Amino acid sequence: MSSVHDYKDVRCAAVGHLWEDYRPLGKTQLGALLTFRCAYCGKFRHDVVSRATGKLISRSYSKLDHPGYRKLGFDKNDMRREFVRRMGTKGRIKKIRAA
Ligand SMILES: [Zn+2]
Repeated sequence: MSSVHDYKDVRCAAVGHLWEDYRPLGKTQLGALLTFRCAYCGKFRHDVVSRATGKLISRSYSKLDHPGYRKLGFDKNDMRREFVRRMGTKGRIKKIRAA
C-alpha cells in the first residue's frame, strides 16, 4: 500500500482521529462553534451546537491536502490491515515510545 500516505493518515483511517480543542468557543448565527484539530493528521472538525438544546446542528471537516484513501480505491478494512502491518514493524514501535 505504498500509495497511501504516511503513518498518520493510515492511523486516522483505521482507528479514528484524535480530536483536540483548537480554538476558543466561537459563535455562529445558529449556535456555538466548536473547532477541533486532529493531533495526527491535522484535519479540522467544526461542530455547531445549539446552546439551548445541545443538539448538533452541523458538522464539517476540512479537506486534506491529498486524496483520501477512498479516492485511492481502498476501504476501511484495507486501512486497518495496513495499520496492523505497520504497527508490527520495529520502527513504528520505537516511534510510539518516543512520542
Ligand atoms: Zn486525523
